[in-house]
Amino acid sequence: MPLHTGSCHCQNVRYEVDIDLTQPVIECNCSYCEPKGFLLSFVPAASFSAQGEENLTEYRFNTEKLQHLFCKTCGVQPFCRGEGKAGPTVAVNVRTIDGIELGNLTRLPFDGRSA
Ligand SMILES: [Zn+2]
Repeated sequence: MPLHTGSCHCQNVRYEVDIDLTQPVIECNCSYCEPKGFLLSFVPAASFSAQGEENLTEYRFNTEKLQHLFCKTCGVQPFCRGEGKAGPTVAVNVRTIDGIELGNLTRLPFDGRSA
């Protein structure tokens, strides 16, 4: 799969991810994702690597299973970490991928509000 790079706004946190952007990205309407405007793509943690994670801090709510990470300096949330059915999973905030063309993405609505 193609290797993409991304970062938070101040670039203190950078990442590389094997991700197929021709696959639909998740647009969730839950109380957290909706105001943030997240477009998410879930990948196995093995397909993901980050530098500068010490610049991140976390926010947990609800079941507290997901680590919602954001940069202490610029507040951007490049990704979050969690435990998926198949093991450690990373939810990439696709908007933070370098050179992303949002108009080319296929969005898959997810009804997280009712979940
Ligand atoms: Zn930052």
